[in-house]
Amino acid sequence: MTLESKLASTREWLARCPRVAAFSGAGLSADSGLATFRDPDTDALWSRFDPTRLASPEAFAADPELVIDWYNWRRKRYAEVAPNAAHHALAAQTGMIQITQNVDHLLEAAGAAPERVYHLHGSILSDRCHSGDCDYHEAIDPAAPPGLRDCPRCGTRLRPAVVWFGENLPMEAWTRAQSLCMRLDCLLVIGTSATVYPAAGLIELTRRSGGRIIVVDPNAGVASDAADSFLQGRAADLLPTLLGGLALTSID
Ligand SMILES: [Zn+2]
Repeated sequence: MTLESKLASTREWLARCPRVAAFSGAGLSADSGLATFRDPDTDALWSRFDPTRLASPEAFAADPELVIDWYNWRRKRYAEVAPNAAHHALAAQTGMIQITQNVDHLLEAAGAAPERVYHLHGSILSDRCHSGDCDYHEAIDPAAPPGLRDCPRCGTRLRPAVVWFGENLPMEAWTRAQSLCMRLDCLLVIGTSATVYPAAGLIELTRRSGGRIIVVDPNAGVASDAADSFLQGRAADLLPTLLGGLALTSID
């Protein structure tokens, strides 16, 4: 089957689904010029650091300034990028919930209502208190992010409000995502390798509950293996055709 006929038949089928949600990862934002998290980066200053080691409570304990400098470098890059055609195609589905592993706010920048975007890995656009007993949060201007500083409420250091390796997912977003994925006719999986647990378990949850999986990704992989329909290509190329003119909803 050609990609065009696959797109057409998947679209026809999607239009008849009462409950659809999107589940996105780094590949969605890669088309906006943000390198995927695991890609080797070209920036000379940071290329010698392993992102998987910087994004951890251990790294923050060992060298908090280094970790904050790295996040602030990333924040400045985020400040310079705009949503791409895939973000716009998803955001135009105003009745559909967006579950995302991305810490950027490009879906919201494309017009998605913030309460309809479930951020499983938190947000790079805010800081929070590193103490587990304090719920202080602060919005960050990504173009001019502040340096390392203490929580004004309790004196513990502030840190990016993202989920680091070895940390739990935000309880509310995770619980809502799980509950939703058990009730879906279809989960639209975009730009994620589906190797990161427990988020990848959402695909399994939908499948076990009788829902179908559509995967949009340039690369075949774990997610496409689990797909009922695998649309191979860039999200920015395929999603406008797949979703344009539809009015999908997540909750009946
Ligand atoms: Zn605090």
